Amino acid sequence: MLDEGPAPKRFVISSSPRPDNKLNTIRTIAVLLGGLALAAMLVWLAPRDPLPPTTSAETEPAEIMASQEAPAEASSAAAPTEPEPPAPSPIETSARLKKGGTVAGVLHELGVAADDVSNAIAALKAHVRLNRLPVGQEITVTLGPTEDDGKPPLMALSIRPEPRREITLERDEDGDFSVEEEVFDTVAKLQRASGAVEGSVIVSAEAAGVPRPALVEMLRAFSWDVNFQHDIKVGDRFDVLIEQDWTSDGWPVDAGRVLWAELTTGGGEQSFSIYRFKPRDGEEFFYNGEGESVVKALLRTPLNMSRISSRFGLRHHPVLRFTRLHAGVDFAAPPGTPILAAGAGRVVEAGPNGGYGRWIKISHSDGLATGYAHLSRIAPGVRRSARVKQGQVIGYVGTSGLSTGPHLHFEVHRAGRPVDPLSLARTAMRSRLSGEDLTRFKARVAEIDRARESTKNGSPSGEPLP
Ligand SMILES: [Zn+2]
Repeated sequence: MLDEGPAPKRFVISSSPRPDNKLNTIRTIAVLLGGLALAAMLVWLAPRDPLPPTTSAETEPAEIMASQEAPAEASSAAAPTEPEPPAPSPIETSARLKKGGTVAGVLHELGVAADDVSNAIAALKAHVRLNRLPVGQEITVTLGPTEDDGKPPLMALSIRPEPRREITLERDEDGDFSVEEEVFDTVAKLQRASGAVEGSVIVSAEAAGVPRPALVEMLRAFSWDVNFQHDIKVGDRFDVLIEQDWTSDGWPVDAGRVLWAELTTGGGEQSFSIYRFKPRDGEEFFYNGEGESVVKALLRTPLNMSRISSRFGLRHHPVLRFTRLHAGVDFAAPPGTPILAAGAGRVVEAGPNGGYGRWIKISHSDGLATGYAHLSRIAPGVRRSARVKQGQVIGYVGTSGLSTGPHLHFEVHRAGRPVDPLSLARTAMRSRLSGEDLTRFKARVAEIDRARESTKNGSPSGEPLP
């Protein structure tokens, strides 16, 4: 197609009789050729990975061919005798923004004349921040039949920059563009997903339809009680109630929020439930059915990858033949494994400590303190009176001091006395809702329990609960 000559400002779709039959046939052929070029272009424009919206890019070229065939057949069959073949109808097509692409670029690629493009962009600018559209943004374009200059006039264009808003540009009879903005209502819908854990919780829950961000939120909440590497066994189950906002025409507005979830561990031996709740003066997060926060003052283990090699308690020494208290828990881990501060607090000791080798002690709130022994290295900045965050890397596993192999000896002290870190884990270190918050929480739990009962049948996984 040539790029010369002024673009006609005006195009009227007309089905009125046309006296010049020959001209009409030529027009139809031009449209056909234009359509073929367009189809080729769309194949090229089509995105590699399909995105949520309604139309599939792969079907578009076929649709365009189909919409072109109808008038072509009509005109060839009718041409000899019939004076009025139907006018070619407008073509609706859609494209997605590529990296670095623009709406103007898409229109140019579709063969729209430069004047049309600049007028359309000028009209759209007041309603959409065109330079902020994401890669993959779908743009639906309606083109009229190709005109004498070989260019299809732009009839309409619509963009949905966010699920709630649709911007539609339309050409009026005078050839001017007007823009309308539609704002869709949203409604929160409940979705329930349940199933058996096969392989991993992530894979199974995702397969059951739990959106990724909600899944991450759920795993984070359970991680205070569950070690996903060790605790999940064959026969374990998950069950999730998710709330997600949708537009009235069926587009998801957000990523979904977990309202409630339940996970069994140890092959159904234990079960953990979490409820979403926002206390009056706190952040929204998860609580168990008793109103205890899932977040603990201290992490379950101060290492991500480890196994317990020796527990807290009285230990008979095989060589020295006496019994003494093992005042902590030993975690076997490869040398250099990062050690995390079990809780937020202040470093009170950091350095060599006799048989404990390189040692760190952190003081936390509520009279709690934690100790970490046999380190190969103390992390930079971790020195006496430094503040540390929960989960911050404070050092690395080693075998310094009196140690038979690389491991972390971990102690928890309460009111100055060593206690068993593993038995402390369940209840002692959780904040508990009280007063008005607890009353509101109980009401919320009842509400969520009713909601999950009633969404049982609508569960996308379709699996019955055990
Ligand atoms: Zn030890």
